[in-house]
Parts: sequence; structure tokens; C-alpha cells
Amino acid sequence: MAARMRSRLAWVLLGVVLVAAPWVLSASWLTPLNYIGLYALVCLGLVLLTGMAGLTSFGQAAFVGIGAYTTAVLVTGQGWSPWLSLPVSLVVAGVTAYILGWLTIRLSSHYLVLGTMAWGISIYALFGNMPGLGGYNGIGGVPPISLPGVSASTQQTFFWLIALFVVLAFVAARNLLDSRQGRAIRSLRDPAMAESFGIHVTRLKVIVFVIAALLAALSGWLNAHYVSVVNPGPFGINASIDYLFMAVVGGTTSLAGALVGPALVEVLRTAVRDLVPSLTGMAGGSFEIIVFGTIVILLLQGSGGGVMAVLRRWLPKPRVPRAPVSAEALPRREQPPRGQALLRVAGLTRRFGGLVAVDDVGFELMAGELLGVIGPNGAGKSTLFNLLTGVLAPTAGRVEFAGRSIGGASARHIAGLGVARTFQHVRLRPEMTVLENAALGAYQRSRAGILRSMLRLDRDEEARSLFEARRQLERVGLGEAASLPAGSLPLGQQRILEIARALASDPVLLLLDEPAAGLRYQEKQALARLLRQLRGEGVSMLLVEHDMDFVMNLVDRLVVLQYGQKIASGTAREVQADPRVIEAYLGGIDD
Ligand code: ADP
Ligand code: MG
Repeated sequence: MAARMRSRLAWVLLGVVLVAAPWVLSASWLTPLNYIGLYALVCLGLVLLTGMAGLTSFGQAAFVGIGAYTTAVLVTGQGWSPWLSLPVSLVVAGVTAYILGWLTIRLSSHYLVLGTMAWGISIYALFGNMPGLGGYNGIGGVPPISLPGVSASTQQTFFWLIALFVVLAFVAARNLLDSRQGRAIRSLRDPAMAESFGIHVTRLKVIVFVIAALLAALSGWLNAHYVSVVNPGPFGINASIDYLFMAVVGGTTSLAGALVGPALVEVLRTAVRDLVPSLTGMAGGSFEIIVFGTIVILLLQGSGGGVMAVLRRWLPKPRVPRAPVSAEALPRREQPPRGQALLRVAGLTRRFGGLVAVDDVGFELMAGELLGVIGPNGAGKSTLFNLLTGVLAPTAGRVEFAGRSIGGASARHIAGLGVARTFQHVRLRPEMTVLENAALGAYQRSRAGILRSMLRLDRDEEARSLFEARRQLERVGLGEAASLPAGSLPLGQQRILEIARALASDPVLLLLDEPAAGLRYQEKQALARLLRQLRGEGVSMLLVEHDMDFVMNLVDRLVVLQYGQKIASGTAREVQADPRVIEAYLGGIDD
């Protein structure tokens, strides 16, 4: 409770400082502060887009321009009040971003950069050429915003307005990241992993894109009324790169970077402009390029955390989410009765050109069973796994899960039916905590959307998700590690964390892709113990494994693949005695 008191006190203090500042500070202070705030709104969007979702936009200034132009046209041309034009500015920018988002977001990273540049330049040209926007001279006489009943200068008024919006935007962004949707957003860098937990990757990317555009448009709306003139100049590609530069300087991996970056760049710019000429007799402009170029190079050498990565060493550690000690359980799926056929594979075939990677394979898996699929390298195990999880579509054959055909269905659809998976090459979000990674698995079991998360109306559900994550971590023996970054765990524990994450989805069937690969002896032992425990608890599992010794004393039944074909199946003992299996494993194909 002391922590809560302290945080409440900090908010009150911040409020007092922000309200008092315009009366204490002179205009020469307020102007740069106001600009820092305006830039910070745009950079906040870029941090969400770049640092969190792994996307890049080189056209962000265009959305600032859309916000500015929309209000300028409505207020000067139609006599609207600025407050009435705010929602319209946001809608116009949001709809534009939504359309451009769907068109460009699916491009791979290099093309995405070019795509955002292309529409950034197009919109800029539109500002200069569209009738009614005043050409390259723009629109003048945009009135300032006044606060009813408050007599203050434009500088003062805008300081309050900008500070209010900046605080609200940062709080909303922080709330969002600390939620089910935020965890999903932070997983977008790994689309295949995200889809396998039921996250609609493209849709969520577009949503983040729209959020970033709304923040930019908000900055533009404020800007238009603050400087009273709107022309295309500040909304071109240079400005877009400038925003990106500020965000990168601050550090795109933390929200605070969106405020620190613009502040630092503004201070440096002023310093270079004012100090350098008087010290050296040279014009500030050429020095600015040298100083800024050096900073970029230095930051690129670093981890990408920007200045915030350096500041963090002195700042108190940010709070990580903690799971409640108890909470109502999340809704559970109906589990099929033990012994019922859960997975039916028949005639399954996948060709890659002339190569038949999986060739007419058939088997069944019963509920409650631990079935192993083994085979030497190149046998087709990974291909089979990908066919079962919706990563690949079969060339021929059937895959039936719980009576439904899932051959060729999407990974997200299959995940929705209760098939959870782990990855051969561990796919965790290393910067997120162990608890958050596990909670990602429960994504499909809760509903809260973006808005609910931003407004923190999701706390009940969030507590239930985090409690579920905690329960699964304790189940697999990782309870103690909950608040560590996942990337700090040794490989063996990362594999086990992937299992906890899969379990958090309340799966009907758990698919494990070579979980023992790369593990040390002790780690393999720990993993085998866990899998035995889960089998004892009745979890249905399919284990694809290269390591014959690892599966032998573990599984109920085995299917053996070689050159894409099923060459044997049965209990471990039966399979081990099969001459074709001995031949396959001792025949020198193995690594
Ligand atoms: P395993 O996982 O048992 O080692 P894989 O399923 O990875 O085997 O591979 C089976 C065969 O299919 C191999 O000969 C491999 O080279 C080939 N293969 C796998 N994926 C592809 C692909 N995407 N394109 C072409 N050939 C592939
Ligand atoms: Mg493989």
C-alpha cells in the first residue's frame, strides 16, 4: 500500500508542477517545451510501432499533416470550433491509416519502408496541390485554442493542453502495453509464434498503425492551432525521418524514450545553434549535421535502446507485472474422454517440387496419450509438424482433430480449436518476463480489447490471466523465475517455459517440436520428468523428436518416419526391435 501512496503522491506532484509551470517559466522556456510535447506525441506512436510491434514508418509526418490540415480547413473555412474539428481530424487520419495499413503492412520490412515513404511523399504532394489547401503557402489564420474562463497567453494555454494530452497518451500507452493486447503487440515481431496463440497478426499490426497515426494527428491538430499557419513544409519526408530519429535517439524499446528523445534533440539543437557559432565562428547548421550524425552512429553501435538504455542504469527498475495470489480461474475447454481418438491422420502427403517430404503417412492419437514421432534427420518430422499446426498445407491426405478436418486450416484456426505447440527453435519474447510470456498463451481465453486495456477496464480479466500464467509456471517448476526476463533463462528452462505458455492456453492437445534438441543431459532429465508428470495429469501430447534415447522410456507409442514414410509404429519396445528402424538409425543417415 505504501507503493500506491507514493505513486499517487507522484501523480499529484506532477499535476502541480505542470499546472504551475506556465506561470513560472518565461515564453523562451515554454516554446521549446511545447514543441517537445508535440514531437513526443508523434514519437510515442513510433515507439509503439517500431519498438513494440517491430514495424517502421517513414511517413509519420503525413499523419501530423492530415490532423493539421483537417482542422485548418474546418475552422478557417467552415467556422467550426477547434474542439469540434478534433474528432474529425482523428477520424480522417485514422481512416487513412487504416486503408494504407491494410495495403502496406503485409509487405516485408524493406518494402514496408519503401511503402511508407511512398505514401508519405504522396500525401505531402497532396497537401501542396489539392485545391482548397492553399498550395505550398498553406492556410493562415488558424485561431488558437482558448480555455473557457482562463485568461492566459497562447504559450501558457498550449503548455497546459499539450501537457494534458501527453500525459493522457503516455498513460493510455502504458496501460495498453501492460495488458493482454499489449503482450500480443509485443509478439508481433514473431508472427508465426503470435498466430499460433490465436493472435490475428495482420489485424493487430493495422490497429497499432492506426493508433500511431491518431497520435500523430493529435499532434498535428495541436500544432495547427499553436502556430496558426498550416503549410506542407513540416509534413514531408524530412520531417518523418526527423521524428524517427528522435524516437531512435530516445530509445524505441521504452515509452519514456518517446519523451526523452525529442527533449534531448531539442536541447542539442538549441545548444548547437546558439553555442557553436560563438565558439568556432562557424555556422551552426553544418555543425548540427556533424553532431547529429555522430550521435546516430554512436546509438547504432548500441543495443537500439537509445538514450533510455543508458539512463536506465541509474533509474529505479521499472515495475514488472506480478500475478495475484489468487483469482477466479479462466474459462476452461471441454476435454475429450480418455482413450477417444483425438487426432486422426490419413494419407497425409506434402511435396516440395519433386521431393516428397511427407509421404502417405497415417496414424491416430488417443486422448490422454503421449505419442512420439521419431526419425533421422530429413525424415519429414518438421514438415509433418507444420502440416498438423497449419504452418503448411497438405498436398494430399486428411488431418482430423476432435472430429473436425483441420488439413490446410490456418495456424490461428487450429490454435482456436485447442491445439497448442512449442517450437524447435525457442520462440519467446526475451525482453518480456517469464510470467508475461506464459500469459501470452492465455490470449485466447480472455476478451479485453484495445480500448478496455487503455482505460484499464480489463483488470479483473487481467488478474485471471496472470494468475493462470502463474499457475502454469508453478506446474512446470518455473514459479520462482516469474519476474525474470525470459531471455535470461538457460535453454532448458526456456523450453519448459514454452510448455508452460502452451499449457496456459488450456490445450486439448499439446504438440512438442524436438523439445530435447540442444539440451544438456541434466536439462533433458528435467524435461523428461515434466513430460511424465503431464502425461500423469492426462495431457494429450504429440512429441516429435530426433533423439531416440530421449523418447524410449517416455512415450506410450511411437511412429517412426524415414524419407517421409512411416516405416514402423507401436510401443517403444516393438519399434526398437524392428529391423527397418535399426537400419534407419544405424544406417549412417543420422548426424
Ligand atoms: P526432419 O524434421 O525430420 O529433419 P524435415 O521435415 O525438415 O525433416 O525435412 C524433410 C525433407 O523435406 C528434407 O529432405 C528437407 O530438405 C525437405 N524440406 C523441408 N522443408 C522444405 C521446404 N520448405 N522446401 C523444400 N524442401 C523442404
Ligand atoms: Mg526437423
